[in-house]
Formats: sequence, structure tokens, C-alpha cells
Amino acid sequence: MKYYDKLIFELSKEGRKGYSLPVNKFPASPELPLQLQRASALPLPEVSEPDVVRHYNNLSQMNFGVDTGFYPLGSCTMKYNPKINEEAAALPGFNALHPLQEAPAAEKVLEDMNQFLAAITGMHKFTFMPCAGAHGELTGLMIMRSYHMGRGDFGRTKVIVPDSAHGTNPASAAVCGLEVVQVKSLENGRIDIEALKPLLDSSVAGIMMTNPNTLGLFETEIKTIARLVHEAGGLLYYDGANMNPLMGVVRPGDMGFDIMHLNLHKTFSTPHGGGGPGSGPVGVAKHLVGCLDGLKVSGFHGNFGVILRAYAYILTLGRENLRKVGEYSVLSANFIKESLKDVYKLPIEGVCKHEFVFDGLIDDGAREDVPGATTLDVAKRLLDYGFHAPTIYFPLLFHQALMIEPTETESKETLDAFIAVMRKIAAEAAADPALLHAAPHNAVISRPDETAAARNPILKYQDTL
Ligand SMILES: *Cc1c(COP(=O)(O)O)cnc(C)c1O
Repeated sequence: MKYYDKLIFELSKEGRKGYSLPVNKFPASPELPLQLQRASALPLPEVSEPDVVRHYNNLSQMNFGVDTGFYPLGSCTMKYNPKINEEAAALPGFNALHPLQEAPAAEKVLEDMNQFLAAITGMHKFTFMPCAGAHGELTGLMIMRSYHMGRGDFGRTKVIVPDSAHGTNPASAAVCGLEVVQVKSLENGRIDIEALKPLLDSSVAGIMMTNPNTLGLFETEIKTIARLVHEAGGLLYYDGANMNPLMGVVRPGDMGFDIMHLNLHKTFSTPHGGGGPGSGPVGVAKHLVGCLDGLKVSGFHGNFGVILRAYAYILTLGRENLRKVGEYSVLSANFIKESLKDVYKLPIEGVCKHEFVFDGLIDDGAREDVPGATTLDVAKRLLDYGFHAPTIYFPLLFHQALMIEPTETESKETLDAFIAVMRKIAAEAAADPALLHAAPHNAVISRPDETAAARNPILKYQDTL
């Protein structure tokens, strides 16, 4: 352990300060009642300024971020976020606004964004209130319900969700008071239309889909699905959290979707993770615009700073370069998939969109006395080589799922380096799986109990010595 890996409380020295203030010439406030006065000093670390600076810088380096390395986390779009967007969001004319103030510039941003997003998605109008993707899903489903209720059609209580869906989809439907009905996928990863047909009765409010789906595969029969759902009186909800592969190429509105959300904090470049802030604007087709009236799911216009970053991002790229986002994200994913499929199991062959899923190693090195290397082992070993792990064990369709999304912002050299390391790990697994079971060997911590950490977090310093 390096000296400065010590916690700041352990560096504390009584009486040491990182500041120097003029002597206080005023008497202690006589108004403060005695029982409110602190009897002893707060237990804060007493350290010098260099100690504080080193403490925070060292802490920041114990974690892995997209600004420190490649982060191919499938279904999350951890791409590089241009720093100029941060400057736009920090402009005092915007970030010091009060929501009740007259603000023509902010209104113009919202109007422009409405037009940009409508052009990108084929929807007619957006609301910017939702503060995350899942919040957008809930809002969209509320719109779906109010559409049916508004027509006096009260029996539509079911939402169809494919078995490959992102976990938030069924969760949002349940929160909205709707019943979730699962439709299964075919061997080729697409929705089974024959399994869908019998589900489409007068109790169906609609279907929630993402296209490309969570396996990174385009639902080629989307036009047929849209027709069938509409004929049954249902609506189509599009989970547009990851629009990277489609931007400038295909529009959900043209595929037949009626309602959708976007994750501005994924596709449109706001650094995210750890719970926010996010922005999940919801767009609706023309025939549903009335359902946006009176909708109130958050204060004012949601997370305006995230909207501003997306605005700066769209203006920086322009129409022709937004299309390149789609093309490069798809190219990068296919390049990695094709370069690794002789050592990692590819359950579904063919062209993917912005992400794809392996099902573990082809040769996991299993022997009589040593168990084989798992997807978790591969993910942990990647950290030793300076790469963040892909999404693992999701989607649930495959037992050893390893879901890779390189995004459009990585250079060919970075992709080559990642491929080389993934191949090296595959060779290590075949030769000595025990090496992988013990990984990571170079990280600050190795294999924490993630469930316990999430359920019982220790959020403040505890003196364990
Ligand atoms: C990330 C994601 C969501 C949820 O978005 P949050 O902002 O985390 O609530 C929903 N669907 C898909 C496909 C996603 O990738």
C-alpha cells in the first residue's frame, strides 16, 4: 500500500490546518442557546492542503471512468463525452436561471431540441420532463394509458414485453399499474411473430420494444409487428435509450412506433453512471400530441443541464456527422465481434448493430480438477489490462453473456488493443484458468460482494483499526 492510499482520517494530525483565517475579533454570538452549541469539536480530519489534494486525486484514480480508459459496457453507451458540452452547460446565463424567470434563450434551446429530436426520431413532439430513461418509460406508458382511457377503452391493461428486454421495461409497466406479458424470441434473437399473434387481444394496451434489441439485433419484421399491434388496437412504445446505431439512418417513427423515449445521457453525450443526472425526453406521434397536455412528471423541464449538453452535441456534429455516429458505432461493434468469434462463443451469427453478445469462452480451460474460466473471470482479468469490463450476465438469454458495446468514439488502435487483450485472456483461460479465477491481480480491490455493497453501503469512514 502506498502512503497516500491511507484514508484521510488516518493522515489526520491534531491541530493541522489547510487554511489560515484572520483572528476573529468578535465575541461569540450571545443569541445561540447553550443547548445548541457544540460541546466538542466535530470529528473531522485535520490535514494540510497537499494532503487533501492528494487524497481526492488518489481516490479518483481508484475508480475506472471513460476519461481514464476504454469502457465497452453494453446497453450503457459509455462513450467519450466532448468537454465543450460541459462548458455549454456551465454558462452562467443558463445555469444561474431560475425556473420561473423569463428565459427566451432557454426556451429557444427547448424549441430547437424539440425539432432536432423530432427530425432524428420521426416523432412529432417531445416533453423534456423525465429525468432518466426509466422515468421516460413510465411517462410513455402513462401516455399510452391515457390515450386508451380517453377513448373510453378501459379494458387495456396488458403490455407485451419481449424476453430480451431491458429490465426497466417490465419494471416501468408494473409501476404504471399494467400487467406484463412476455413474448419469446426465436433462435435468431428476434421476436417470434407466431408467439406474438395470440397475445394480441382487446386487453392489450401496447408493446414495448427496442430496435435494435438488447442483443444488438435489428428486428427485421418490425413493419409486420407494428401492423399487427395497431390492428389489435394497441400502441407501440420504443425504448430509444441507445439511439447510436440508428441516428441519421433509420427513424422509430417510420418503423411504426407511437411513443418513445431517448436517453440524452447515453446517446447525446452526458457523462453518466452512479445514478445521474439524466434526461429521458418522451416523444409522441402526431395523433398522441394531445396526451402531452397537462402531463406533469417532474418540476419544470427536467434536467436542463443535460438537455443543454445534448444541444451542444447535436449542433457540433450537424446532420451529416450524426449519421456517422450510427455508422461508426455499428462498424466498431462488428469489427470486434468478427475479430473475436473464433475464441468467444457467438450464439447468433450475422451483422449486429451497436452492440453484440458473446456466450463465454469457446475453450474455458476446464479440467478434471480445475473449473473453467467464466465470463466473470474474463471481466475481472480485463481490469488487470486496463480495460473496463463489458456488461456481464445480461441479457439473461445466455448463461455466460458478455455484452460488448465499443461506441463510435474509439480509435482503430484502441479497438485493436482491446481485441489483442481479449485474445490473450482467452489463451490464458485455456492454459491456466486458475490465473483468471484469482483476477484481478492489479486492482485496488478484487472481488467485492456487490449485492452486499448495494444493500448495506458503508457511506462514511469507520475506524476499523
Ligand atoms: C439504460 C437503459 C434504460 C434505462 O435508462 P436509465 O436512464 O438508466 O433509467 C432503458 N432501456 C435501455 C435499453 C437502456 O439501455
